[in-house]
Amino acid sequence: MEDLSTLNSFGLHVNAKSVYRIRSLADLRSAPSDHALILGRGSDILLTDDYDGNVLVNCITDTRFSEDGDFNVVRCGGGRELDSLIGELVSRGISGLENLSAIPGTVGAAPVQNVGAYGVEIGSAIASVDYFDLDRREFGTIKGEDCGFGYRTSWFKEHPERRLFITEVEFRLKKGFHPVLSYKGLVDTALDTPYKIRERVIKLRREKLPDPSVVGSAGSFFKNPVVGEDQAALLQRSYPDIPLYPLGGGRVKLAAGWLIDRAGCRGITHGNAGTWDKQALVIVNRGNAKPHEIVALAKYVSIEVFRRFGIKLEPEVRIYGRRGEITWDQI
Ligand code: NAP
Repeated sequence: MEDLSTLNSFGLHVNAKSVYRIRSLADLRSAPSDHALILGRGSDILLTDDYDGNVLVNCITDTRFSEDGDFNVVRCGGGRELDSLIGELVSRGISGLENLSAIPGTVGAAPVQNVGAYGVEIGSAIASVDYFDLDRREFGTIKGEDCGFGYRTSWFKEHPERRLFITEVEFRLKKGFHPVLSYKGLVDTALDTPYKIRERVIKLRREKLPDPSVVGSAGSFFKNPVVGEDQAALLQRSYPDIPLYPLGGGRVKLAAGWLIDRAGCRGITHGNAGTWDKQALVIVNRGNAKPHEIVALAKYVSIEVFRRFGIKLEPEVRIYGRRGEITWDQI
């Protein structure tokens, strides 16, 4: 058995049969993949138990740059740290992903969650995703427009039965500087280069979020709920300061962190698990937490939010049990 505490960003001590580090397509073909769990840096997952199988860790990091008319084309191995890629893009003067700076995790994990921050989602820059299907034992490619990108979700996330190991992602980034500065903290005309935006985003994240090298977490634990305009209006009547973000089409996004805070759950602790006092949406391992403590705390938070606001929080993290991915309602 091998300990996975360094392979999940919560730092939870759970075990798997064996861990295989995949550095090439040849490694992938020869790895024992039956029921294998695929991990990048394990930064958006909650392992609730020992895993009854092997783990394949994506360590494919090759990156190639080219140009196609008005676009910079970047092909990047799925095992590269997303932030390392963004740092290189910015240093080459390539704009488009700087708002996603300092998000923990790999390039290969990013399309699964369609990671997003400060008004930018990675799916908008993805031209295609190359994969190896662990069950069919074949390589394939999915075009960006077929990836089903949605709010913190994608076709990959919605089809966990298709165990696809993402080997490479192709990004197409329009040449020139196209800043997205609509979020608080970025509304500032002095942010006139991708580098300055990246520095600002890193600063904002450091102020609000735990340092991943010190405190274990999976970033935002829950998604921001989306409700209809009528429900949003009712909530606003009772809570005039509630932040509402209209999405169009009669839908309104709420801030899960605000709901958790107002439900009295910011900075609370259960055993060695807790919610972060500067951003209640982040559940942290305060030191040697057990999976059941994280689960119990998350359930408590979602019950309290439901009791107070009648809103059901859905986890953003993916949850795994002994045999693979499980749903929030199964635990
Ligand atoms: P915040 O300012 O406390 O705002 C709370 C939420 O309101 C955010 O999650 C954001 O939704 C939404 N929001 C804020 N300003 C908005 C605007 N101008 N237009 C539309 N929606 C707006 O947020 P925060 O915790 O500091 O996070 C800032 C950004 O970093 C957010 O985009 C957040 O998603 C991202 N972030 C991501 C993770 C992660 O683990 N993936 C962790 C922390 C922060 P959205 O989340 O839909 O943008």
